[in-house]
Amino acid sequence: MIKALQLRINLHQERQPDGLLIKAAYDLGVEPSEISGIKILRKSIDARKRNIMFNYKVEVYINEPVPETSDYHFDYKDVSNAKPIHIIGFGPAGMYAALRCIELGFKPIVLERGKNVQYRRRDLKAINQDHFVNEDSNYCFGEGGAGTYSDGKLYTRSLKRGDVRRIFENLVFHGATDQILVDAHPHIGTNKLPKVVQNIRETILKYGGEVHFETRVTDFTIKNNKIVAIQLQNGKELDVEKVILATGHSARDIFYLLNDKDIALKAKSFAMGVRVEHPQEIIDGIQYHCFGEPRDELLPPAAYSLVEQVNNRGVYSFCMCPGGFIVPAATANGEVVVNGMSPSKRNNKFANSGIVTEINADKDLYKYEQFGALKALEYQKDLERLAFTAGGRTQSAPAQRLTDFVEGKLSQNLNETSYQPGLKSSPLHSLLPKIIGGSLRKGFKAFGEKMKGYYTEEANIIGVESRTSSPVNIPRTDTLEHPEITNLYPCGEGGGYAGGIVSAAMDGERCAEAATSSI
Ligand code: FAD
Repeated sequence: MIKALQLRINLHQERQPDGLLIKAAYDLGVEPSEISGIKILRKSIDARKRNIMFNYKVEVYINEPVPETSDYHFDYKDVSNAKPIHIIGFGPAGMYAALRCIELGFKPIVLERGKNVQYRRRDLKAINQDHFVNEDSNYCFGEGGAGTYSDGKLYTRSLKRGDVRRIFENLVFHGATDQILVDAHPHIGTNKLPKVVQNIRETILKYGGEVHFETRVTDFTIKNNKIVAIQLQNGKELDVEKVILATGHSARDIFYLLNDKDIALKAKSFAMGVRVEHPQEIIDGIQYHCFGEPRDELLPPAAYSLVEQVNNRGVYSFCMCPGGFIVPAATANGEVVVNGMSPSKRNNKFANSGIVTEINADKDLYKYEQFGALKALEYQKDLERLAFTAGGRTQSAPAQRLTDFVEGKLSQNLNETSYQPGLKSSPLHSLLPKIIGGSLRKGFKAFGEKMKGYYTEEANIIGVESRTSSPVNIPRTDTLEHPEITNLYPCGEGGGYAGGIVSAAMDGERCAEAATSSI
């Protein structure tokens, strides 16, 4: 017999090896010895009250074995001699587009400007230590895209857009922990992601697909509203039938290329702000009600999610990384961009999060109108250059104590940070445009009311968090083709169709289905 059950246990019960089993037996009115196994479907922590509880959704197997099988199968076919689909970009969207092509019997040919995960690591070191940004290989560009050296959080709000479980099962198939199938807030971690990404590449190659690194696409030849050939930076040219464009939100050269060719684009509203960094113990103290004491060892480093309306503008936390690092995510020299990542154990002593506010492309960017569809991109660029100048013209980032930022004072000194290239004290309160700085200052005050202890001089704010999503939308029709270029499939975050690893992966699958359905 199998019984579906919701169980709620406390820290003490969670600590007992048989705590869950005993609780299940009690709730079902059976002997613990009758339970042959418990399959956990979902686990979450409820820390709203002092008495922290663990919520489980489970299937309890009574006198019958727990099945080991998954409902998901990935039926990869040999596509060595199949019809090709060209995919530009090997981030989550490009990777999942390629895998889906193979399932559907088509040969993915992936063109990726960056290096494989192993070589890419050296370029990340150069950014952190030498302040040099390789414009093809950095935290955004390279194998696995922006998702590789990231936090690997797998939450998505796009539940209606596709089968999230399928994406997770595929990550597990490629080596991610099966814990992601269960956790309410699944997370892989930057130390584990490269291996998963590498395994995905190996699957693609094993079944006859192609993945070309250090192969930047520089131009397209268009005839009769179709891309007929792709030009590469190495001088080669490829004839193409269908092109999935999954180049991400930082591929500015692609946006410029499309714009120069008069291919329809639209400016897109997006969010910008700063990253805030607290000692993790402060966030733990607030969220787990344990000020001054370490959190219980069964509890993960605490996260938070905050949102506030300030003068009709949303201010919210974005990509919060407990136990994480702030990283330099610029894709060119002469700009400073910050983002966050964390290892699987989230065992760093800092908690960081983007705190951003909405920038409305129609209402806020009137000074940038001359840039047309690229106005939000130019605004984003200006802010990143400003951060570069304020940070001292290296990858050091401009920073301020949180309380000084809100009170409008230059910080005499800064708190310790996880941001390796270093910080430079700067008056961000006066440097940031008012729509950003003013909104964030009010937002932080409000956050301090919601989470007592959050508004503290022990936190730094670090600028700028500017790559939250694409500043450009590449339009597409219901069949996912560009309305003017009928064999071009704008895909993933770059086109404006995703906002994170999972939604980008789901969009990659969709684009592969669309591109292969009309061959
Ligand atoms: P991308 O991942 O940006 O991939 C695009 C790829 O295209 C890149 O590899 C790039 O090199 C390549 N490319 C660009 N131009 C060209 C060209 N001309 N020719 C050939 N190739 C090209 N999201 C989450 O859901 N959870 C997180 O925890 C998380 N943390 C993050 C942490 C960091 C530091 C960063 C930078 C991002 C993080 N994100 C996170 C966001 C997430 O990584 C992106 O939403 C996701 O990677 C978008 O996928 P994509 O495939 O659409 O684009």
